[in-house]
Amino acid sequence: MSRPNWEQYALMIAKVASARSEDPYQKVGACVLRKDYSVASVGYNGAPPKIEINWSNRDERRARVIHAEANAFRYLKPQEGYLLASTLLPCRSCIQLAASYGIEKIVYIEEYEQDDIAHNLCAEFDIKLTKIELD
Ligand SMILES: [Zn+2]
Repeated sequence: MSRPNWEQYALMIAKVASARSEDPYQKVGACVLRKDYSVASVGYNGAPPKIEINWSNRDERRARVIHAEANAFRYLKPQEGYLLASTLLPCRSCIQLAASYGIEKIVYIEEYEQDDIAHNLCAEFDIKLTKIELD
């Protein structure tokens, strides 16, 4: 394999993090890089600490699961993050969080059909949103 660029590198790390997800429907991973491209944090979607989720009920887990991006943001200092890489297009809440943390670029692998506002929000918040192919 040829040498990945920084966006691909962050997405590869996000993909590794997603393997830790317990969610049987959608395993999502996220990775945040600083401006010097060092890794600031990683996260994956999962239950809040000490909470058991009934993973077999899709609606129940949807209301309880913490998104990979939100879990990654927990470890950031304000303005520490520059690039967010997520295996799935971030939802509107995570894009709001990204804006609040000063994220300037978001890259992702997979489109999420249920949230078409993500692209408009990123444009409005001046966050560069790019879909990237891995491999
Ligand atoms: Zn989200």
